Amino acid sequence: MHLLIVEDDDAVAAALTEAVATAGHQVQRLSRGADALLNHQQAQMILLDLGLPDIDGLEVLRKLRQVTEVPIVILSARDDERSIVRGLRLGADDYLTKPVGLAVLLARIEAVARRSRTARTESAAITVGSLSLDLERRTATLADRELKLTAKEYELLALLARHAGTVVTREQILDALWGDAFVAVSRSLDVHLTGLRSKLVVPGMIVNVRGVGYRLEAS
Ligand code: CA
Repeated sequence: MHLLIVEDDDAVAAALTEAVATAGHQVQRLSRGADALLNHQQAQMILLDLGLPDIDGLEVLRKLRQVTEVPIVILSARDDERSIVRGLRLGADDYLTKPVGLAVLLARIEAVARRSRTARTESAAITVGSLSLDLERRTATLADRELKLTAKEYELLALLARHAGTVVTREQILDALWGDAFVAVSRSLDVHLTGLRSKLVVPGMIVNVRGVGYRLEAS
C-alpha cells in the first residue's frame, strides 16, 4: 500500500517511515499541511499529524475530505476527548494518540485498510444510460459509438460517471484532474468541459449546478 505520512517532526517521521516500510508499505513523507493537500493523489492511506507548522491538521483533514475518500488516520499528541471527537467527525477513519506503539500502529493501519477494501466496490466498467466507460482500456462509447476524447476529457468524464446522478464539485474535479483543488486553475477546467460537452453531442448530459459543480445525467 502507498502510505503518505504527514508529520513535521523528523525523528517521529523517521520512526514511522521505518516501521511502515518494514511492514512492506511504500512511504512518502511530507512535513507541511499545504504539501499534503497538493500531493495526496497517489496515497492509499494518509497518516496525519495535527500539529503542523503551516495549517492545523484538522483543517487539512477537512479540506482533504472535500475531495477524497482515501482512508485517513490521525496520529497526534492531542489526546483530549474534544480533539478526538472532532477528528473522527471531520472524517478521520481512526485516531491514535502519541506516543503509539509501532505494533499497534501497524495493526490499526491494517484494520482501516481492511474496512476500506470492503467498502470499495469500484468496477472496471461504468454504464450511465447509453454511455459506457471501460476504465482499464480508457475507452468511452456513447450509443455504441466510440468517443475520441483527450486524456483530460476522459478523466473528467470518468469522474462524473463514477458519481452519475450526483453533483461533483469543481474542487473535486480540480483535485482529481490537476491535483490542486485550492489554487485556481479553473479556466482550463472550463475548456475541457466545453470540449467534452461538444463530443457528447447529446445536450444536457452534463448539468451545470450553479455555484456547486456538475452532474452527469443518463441520456
Ligand atoms: Ca507535529
